[in-house]
Amino acid sequence: MRWFWFVFSLIILSPASPLKAQVIVIDTGHSLAHYGALSASGKTEFSFNQRLAKLIADNLTQAGHQVIRMGEDGKMDFLLNRVRHTDKANLFVSIHHDSIQQAWQDAGRQHEFSGYAVFVSTENPYYHDSLRCALAIGQALQAAGKLPSLYHATAIPGENRPLLDAQYGIHRYDNLAVLKKAQSPAILIEAGVIVNPIEERQLLKPQQVKLLAKTITNAIHNCLS
Ligand SMILES: [Zn+2]
Repeated sequence: MRWFWFVFSLIILSPASPLKAQVIVIDTGHSLAHYGALSASGKTEFSFNQRLAKLIADNLTQAGHQVIRMGEDGKMDFLLNRVRHTDKANLFVSIHHDSIQQAWQDAGRQHEFSGYAVFVSTENPYYHDSLRCALAIGQALQAAGKLPSLYHATAIPGENRPLLDAQYGIHRYDNLAVLKKAQSPAILIEAGVIVNPIEERQLLKPQQVKLLAKTITNAIHNCLS
């Protein structure tokens, strides 16, 4: 019996006790056939999403978490398949890169829009946990020198996504299908605006992608700990 308590106390009191591994779904937004936005230089949003999602997934795996990857091969064209494993997940994170309204593009306003945005749905069954992790990601991105784009809150058709937190760029998007249907806390991240040529150049730099991935990974890790 003493042995039991000795081993028990070693496990419980050890300062270097191993982290609690979480199950995290990392979703690569869009697909090869339906590639999302086109960047200023004509690259597909999917290619940006694929690069960043892979690094985040690799980082989380290295940190000891169980990562379920969705859409990484570009062949997932049925949207709700992306959330099919969320019943056993602690968090669903969908990775995207942003465009702007066609009218703003036509008016040559691409340079006016930059930065990240994070979305959650109040219709997700774990809305409060979703918001908590979204805030952790927004805070971490700002600490890494990134700024929120905020234009999705503009009160016009096609935008109108109210800010839940203006400082950290967290928006409410109730009907976003993957966020609403996920059976775990769920977040969608627009990592940057690829129709802005200056921001696109940044988002193509391997060091910048690494920084984004590391920042998002640490925030996920911390909000689930
Ligand atoms: Zn997208």
